[in-house]
Amino acid sequence: MTATAPHHPPAADLADRLARARLATASAGMDALLVTPGPDLRYLTGYDAIPLERLTCLVVQAQGDPVIVVPRLEKPAALASPIGDLGLEILTWGETDDPYALVASLLPGRPRAGLDNHMWAEKVLRLRAAMPGSEQLLGGTVLGELRIRKTPDEVEALRRAGAAIDRVHARVPEWLRAGRTEREVGKDIADAIVAEGHVRVDFVIVGSGPNGASPHHELSDRVIQDGEPVVVDIGGTMPDGYCSDETRTYSVGEPPAEFREFYAVLLAAQVAACEHVRPGVTAESVDSAARDVITDAGYGEYFVHRTGHGIGLETHEEPYIVSGNTELLEPGMAFSVEPGIYLPGRHGARIEDILVCGDTVGERVNLRPRDLVIV
Ligand code: ZN
Ligand code: ZN
Repeated sequence: MTATAPHHPPAADLADRLARARLATASAGMDALLVTPGPDLRYLTGYDAIPLERLTCLVVQAQGDPVIVVPRLEKPAALASPIGDLGLEILTWGETDDPYALVASLLPGRPRAGLDNHMWAEKVLRLRAAMPGSEQLLGGTVLGELRIRKTPDEVEALRRAGAAIDRVHARVPEWLRAGRTEREVGKDIADAIVAEGHVRVDFVIVGSGPNGASPHHELSDRVIQDGEPVVVDIGGTMPDGYCSDETRTYSVGEPPAEFREFYAVLLAAQVAACEHVRPGVTAESVDSAARDVITDAGYGEYFVHRTGHGIGLETHEEPYIVSGNTELLEPGMAFSVEPGIYLPGRHGARIEDILVCGDTVGERVNLRPRDLVIV
């Protein structure tokens, strides 16, 4: 690992992703994938375009070479991105042109078009109007299948993200004190997320005492009290676009005895789920591995969410580690394992690591100790 880790995948990797996207589009029976700015565009081209009202749209055709339609004023930015080295054809449009008609001209007839899952409704509807009779489908069925298996370079990017957020958690005891508010602690954490190498703070959860029993509580002006457990779930985006996400539970002074008791159950559940990860097991069985331990100890009704979510260029993506997801884990799949126990009105705890499924076992990219940290 070096300080000058690349922010973009090599052009050869991007060309390979585009080629695989084209094949997958064809085998899904689609004529084209239409991809507007967001993680799918970044995955396929390295272009981290800002989502704007003006249409930027990558057209991956099942037959023919991919083309990107960009506003004329965005062309320099597009060329400065890895697109400049990809040899991708760029079609520009001026302020008075109709970019939707331009996209439609590339796809004659009544195309079956896969749209990226995050495309703005405005663009979906204008594309539909420009291509009467076309069929619009979710492109995520094609793109999700590509993005779900990380390449060795992507795994390395997730390791860098994991190490960066580990460094932030290592410093949390400096800031967590009785008498400070969650918001004050959160501000210190947010500053550290950037200082430790992220370009963006995605979320900072500091759930003290009863707020820890709300899994997605963020920050409040509540003053942290002595003897309270505090759930700290934090994440950001690295310069290369890959995300971090890690939860540890701390206690400011000695916590109540009942808390120590269920924290031990939670830790055993999280470890059991991590140890269960390997190729060929279902995503839902990882959820069960955690949930069974918690249920057997009598806390089942207090574990109110799925065990995890995939992670990569987005904090939440496939595969979801949830009952009902019978997808088999494969090497390169990356996801969180984050069981929690939440006693309403009292306190809660969660332990979260990101794992990558390897050839034989799962690899944690977050390496901070998982024991309850008393500060
Ligand atoms: Zn998290
Ligand atoms: Zn998470």
